[in-house]
Amino acid sequence: MYDVIVAGGGPAGSSAALRAAFRGLKVLLIEKERFPRFKACAGAVSHRALTYLDFAIPDSLREKEIVGLRLCYGGKTLETKNDSPIAVTVTRSFFDEYLLEKAAEAGASIRTGEKVREVKEEKDCVIVRSTTQSFRSRFAVICEGAHGILGKRLGLNVPRRKAALSVTAGVKAPDSVVDDRLPGLLEVHIGLFKKGYCWIFPHEGYFSVGLWGFEPWLTDLKGTMKRFLQENGFPEDIPVRGHLIPAGETVFFPPASRVIAAGDAGGFVDPLTGEGISFAIRSGQIAADSVADDCTKARGPAAARFEEACRREFADKFQYARMMAEVTYRFPSFFYDLLAGDPDLYRMLLLAPAMKRLYVDYLLWVFPRLHRSLLLYLKDRLLRSRL
Ligand SMILES: Cc1cc2nc3c(=O)[nH]c(=O)nc-3n(C[C@H](O)[C@H](O)[C@H](O)COP(=O)(O)OP(=O)(O)OC[C@H]3O[C@@H](n4cnc5c(N)ncnc54)[C@H](O)[C@@H]3O)c2cc1C
Repeated sequence: MYDVIVAGGGPAGSSAALRAAFRGLKVLLIEKERFPRFKACAGAVSHRALTYLDFAIPDSLREKEIVGLRLCYGGKTLETKNDSPIAVTVTRSFFDEYLLEKAAEAGASIRTGEKVREVKEEKDCVIVRSTTQSFRSRFAVICEGAHGILGKRLGLNVPRRKAALSVTAGVKAPDSVVDDRLPGLLEVHIGLFKKGYCWIFPHEGYFSVGLWGFEPWLTDLKGTMKRFLQENGFPEDIPVRGHLIPAGETVFFPPASRVIAAGDAGGFVDPLTGEGISFAIRSGQIAADSVADDCTKARGPAAARFEEACRREFADKFQYARMMAEVTYRFPSFFYDLLAGDPDLYRMLLLAPAMKRLYVDYLLWVFPRLHRSLLLYLKDRLLRSRL
């Protein structure tokens, strides 16, 4: 019998397995694909995500060091840069493979190319049935990503209508072209549709181009993507894929459950930016720690502890990001002009997701100075109307 079985080997699953093995538990991770596998992603790993990892990622995985953001709206652009890197871009297939190797090194048993078909909770254990056999475990952590069905079968998942939609494509380009166009910058376009944004992120030898947003504001995904590619000088006929980003709601199993959902399976995605890697890593670690504490009877029930810790650290604070998303995406012109008029406001906004800070900290910093920013904004408006 295992102490914990992890279903899915993305950042949430690897982090859960690695931390559980570190804590001395008998761990099995089951992943349906063979790695390296494709994972749709813009591939920006925030500084916060890197600090959550218990190890440094090798230089070979670090494609572009990101120090700033270029914000585009209505033909205008605004750039801000930080003194030190705020993120790094990676290709997810290799990044995820490395994380999984680290979990194996720590002592977790890994089975790839094997799909988990069912997770069934019994009184004293969990039965996990895969495509080849059944396993018994004291706990299970579901890390199946946004498209899984295991959580849903147990009556828990992020409702489809609350998830954001996304399309993305990798556009090949000589590395010098990538560096010329985006020197250490992520490029984000707002105002092309409500509730979401389009991106161009630099990678080694390619750009990640894509968009994400919420229905009903974003419906014609492929058409919007085609226009965006065209307007930015990319071929419009490259194949694009659609995906879900569960950024609308977080979900938790009941406190006494032997099953926990981490990462995208729990809806742990920043509703403003769509960043999910750092919360996948962190929630995977918290899941493992909660299970380890429960196994050693050090603390209370695992699922209850998991929910409490996730809510305290980040999940409850997503509501502030949601508030900011409302302002940013509904009133992009106001948001853009506000940032344009106050560079400090912009720079600090960049630092929020980059560092271990949350938007609630940003808002606490913003509110006392908002009257100043608003005055600058109104002054600018007045001057422009006089011209
Ligand atoms: C287009 C797009 C762009 C994004 N860009 C960024 C970005 O730039 N930065 C960022 O921080 N976040 C980004 N995200 C979000 C980020 O990709 C996710 O939040 C993150 O991958 C979640 O990690 P996870 O481990 O929960 O799930 P995943 O990474 O999806 O991993 C889930 C794993 O579970 C496996 N699996 C599924 N079902 C089963 C099963 N039944 N049995 C066994 N294995 C199974 C899958 O094969 C997969 O390997 C993006 C998302 C999308 C869609």
